[in-house]
Amino acid sequence: MRKDIDILVHEVGPRDGLQSIDTIFLTEAKLEWIRAEAAAGVPQIQVGSFVRPDLLPQMADSAEVVRESIKIPGLTVSALVPNLKGAQNAIAAGAHQLGVVMSVSEAHNKSNINRTVEESLDGFRQIVEYRNEADPDRKTVISGGLATSFGCTISGPVPVSDVMRQAERLLELGADRLNVADTVGFANPKQVKDLFDELFRTVGDDVPVGAHFHDTRGLGLANAFAAVEAGVRELDSCLGGLGGCPYAPGASGNVVTEDMVFMLEAMGLKTGVDLDALLETRELMVRHLKDEPTQGTFVTAGPPLGFVPATAA
Ligand SMILES: [Zn+2]
Repeated sequence: MRKDIDILVHEVGPRDGLQSIDTIFLTEAKLEWIRAEAAAGVPQIQVGSFVRPDLLPQMADSAEVVRESIKIPGLTVSALVPNLKGAQNAIAAGAHQLGVVMSVSEAHNKSNINRTVEESLDGFRQIVEYRNEADPDRKTVISGGLATSFGCTISGPVPVSDVMRQAERLLELGADRLNVADTVGFANPKQVKDLFDELFRTVGDDVPVGAHFHDTRGLGLANAFAAVEAGVRELDSCLGGLGGCPYAPGASGNVVTEDMVFMLEAMGLKTGVDLDALLETRELMVRHLKDEPTQGTFVTAGPPLGFVPATAA
């Protein structure tokens, strides 16, 4: 990770946000958003998902968006991939990082990608092998996803031991890093702190671990804070909290990027992000939306008197 920042903000709006709203963003609109947010200092953006276009038309232009986004200086471009085919297409387009989709909950994995967890782990092994052949320098980073780590809409509570076992398996199979996700917004801050403490005890402190929270029940920022307290240095978020939750109609989406950047900067943690430029990016994104709601409080309240962001200090 870059030495000049304390926490890496990983914007996932162009993927997690857009995939759950009705407005179709044209490729140029996505790129305008991505370029502006990178210019605001956001170091990593998930720009698309290499799923079958008939399943998710919103993501049909992901290869083109990746090819254009990797031209932005300094930006790490990540993409979600559900299987080997998606990984091959993402690597061909030049994605810097692949986030491989997989749930800890057997029932959720089956309903989401129609595979058993064991089949998903085998698919993960194939993706790593393909990367190692196609890219012997291993410049393309592979992140092992642990969706539903804090609970599942089908089977309820997910045992921490299941999360640990799957994390270890992913690392054995060659994951460069892990992404632990509260896919359906079930987590609370104590649970988050305990799970990440346990995870670092299990896999060691030197494995890069990202955290992905949804604000479904209003605990998104509190959970992000708890993850930071446990030692997590990479957080996913979504500009304007765009998107929602497919399992809870009307619920809000990911943690709001601008609110999270404000929290981190106010706590003295450098993100490298300029909040004014981030709000301008938000405005630009909102102009492309039709009726979709956005979330967030920093946009309305602005900074408190005397606020000095850590990045500027
Ligand atoms: Zn998500």
